[in-house]
Amino acid sequence: MVHFVGAGPGAADLITVRGKRYIEEADVIIYAGSLVNPELLKYAKRDCKIYNSAVLNLDEVVDIIREASAKKLSIVRLHTGDPSIYGAVKEQMDRLDELGIPYDSCPGVSSFLAAAASLNLEYTLPGISQSIILTRAEGRTKKPSGEGIEGFASHGSTMVLFLSAAESKKVKAELIRGGYNENTPVAVVYRASWKDEKKFITILNDLPQLMERESIEKTALIIVGDVIGAKKGDYPESRLYDKSFNTGYRGNKKLYIISCSKKGYELAKKIEDGLKNEKEFDEKINHIVKCAALPEISTDKSLRQAVGDIYDDARLIIFVSAAGIAVRSVAPFIGHKYNDPAILCADDLGENIISLMSGHMGGANEYARLVADITGGSAVITTATDMEGRFAIDLFAKRHGLIIGNPEQVKEFSGAVLAGLYEEGGLFKTDDGKGFEIKISNDVSGDDVKYATDTIKTIRLIPRNLCVGVGCKKNTSKEQIEECVNEAFDIIKKDKRAIKAIGSIDIKKTEKGLNEYAKKLGLNAVFYSAEELSHITGDINGSEFVKDVTGVDNVCERSALLMSGNGRLILGKHIKNGVTVAVAQEYTDCEALLEEIHGEAFVCDRNRTGEE
Ligand code: SAH
Repeated sequence: MVHFVGAGPGAADLITVRGKRYIEEADVIIYAGSLVNPELLKYAKRDCKIYNSAVLNLDEVVDIIREASAKKLSIVRLHTGDPSIYGAVKEQMDRLDELGIPYDSCPGVSSFLAAAASLNLEYTLPGISQSIILTRAEGRTKKPSGEGIEGFASHGSTMVLFLSAAESKKVKAELIRGGYNENTPVAVVYRASWKDEKKFITILNDLPQLMERESIEKTALIIVGDVIGAKKGDYPESRLYDKSFNTGYRGNKKLYIISCSKKGYELAKKIEDGLKNEKEFDEKINHIVKCAALPEISTDKSLRQAVGDIYDDARLIIFVSAAGIAVRSVAPFIGHKYNDPAILCADDLGENIISLMSGHMGGANEYARLVADITGGSAVITTATDMEGRFAIDLFAKRHGLIIGNPEQVKEFSGAVLAGLYEEGGLFKTDDGKGFEIKISNDVSGDDVKYATDTIKTIRLIPRNLCVGVGCKKNTSKEQIEECVNEAFDIIKKDKRAIKAIGSIDIKKTEKGLNEYAKKLGLNAVFYSAEELSHITGDINGSEFVKDVTGVDNVCERSALLMSGNGRLILGKHIKNGVTVAVAQEYTDCEALLEEIHGEAFVCDRNRTGEE
């Protein structure tokens, strides 16, 4: 019997349990020496005969199998990864068929799975790609027509290229011709799961340079697609994504249920139990009870006082009471819809769950649906855009981590969406002659004026994708840093609201000015060790002096790049007041976002919480 066994990608403990058993029982093992980890051979019996197929041709392999088979020996043919992928197993099986020798196959972990594991990558993100194309560049093995990389690229799916490391220039050109843009994220994983594994993330444009710089010519996979580097908000989560996004957005705020009768308290408990089964709700749910029939747990405060105590700290308040009670107790505390908690109101029987306030931004509509599921009642949703299943730009912005540059325009846009929009010359227009331009950019908006007429308005969505690296001397003031950053942003003509992170080297951790400036931006400064900063590669403006003082040749550029993950430097070291500032930009596909808006804004019946 011959077992074709997948040895896995490299690490010896990534073989299957069955594969290992076959090795332990084998009398003869023929392994692909170039890629199979020899550690696996340690599982073999002491008297097992072991051959390296790297030095054998097909006839020689078949000869060994034939002889062993005649002696009724157990034979393992060990292939790298999974044998079914570029394993050249079929030609061996065909020979065995001719010889009447029985065989079977045992799967293995393919390298493309090990590469995903090493990157903590999900190949199939909803809304980005639901397909994986496994292919290779054409080499000595010719590819059938219709299987060109260019053609596959036109799908925009996640693509994994085997056997292509030496062909990165060609691969890049074909991918771009096929429709991937130059900024598409690309990952390269060299010897995934081996001890000397290396992994890189770059953009398509820079792939050949990366391969050359790192001298990678084989045993690597090239992975292409927007699933790489996708962040929360770039794709819809599998369930109730709006709500869970709220959870993150509203930070560590709390959940409260308020009840005013015995029956109401029972329902409140039931809702609590139901919510606990939702993964987003593993935190404690606080009860406030105001009920004469329940003196032991009833609060002494007036309901309004009790609500006042929790309001700013709440993410969600569920009243189990008459709507009037709910409205009157929250009324004094209502602020802006961007900050208010979601407020729900349920009747004592849980038949109607009213989304009372913060339907969109606070997620109350989603919460109402969820609670209605628990009580078996109906969610009562009154927000216009939801009722009609229309596009809500504020939600879109939130989902994608975009800041609305001019919120005052949003209301008008929502009205226009309801009235019905059509597209003309890239603008969104209504029948009564209004028009909207949607601009997704972190540029300072000089050309908004182009459309600053009564009839055409620009809605600006600002991606938060800029990372500011700062170097400064001891005791530099917040103002000195701010001036330098302002000057830097004037040079690059970027909007400071796009700043996502600010940071420096860890020896600056206690610099008051820097930390205060970060606070002013609504951020906590990030700090890296010299060692972490030294790993950044690229065109760095290094100085020996800085190296002597800090241990690394440049602080601002390196920290900006490090914060930005796989971003690129858009402003190198800028100096003012003895402060140095560099700005790196994370990759944002603004065009794709815009396309998405165009796709959604005209669709009436979106199923926003749709599950598969
Ligand atoms: N059957 C194997 C693929 C064999 S073809 C599998 O399922 O993985 C050989 C190619 O696989 C190499 O050129 C390289 O592209 C890829 N490969 C194999 N092992 C790898 C590893 N550990 N890391 C990255 N790529 C690997």
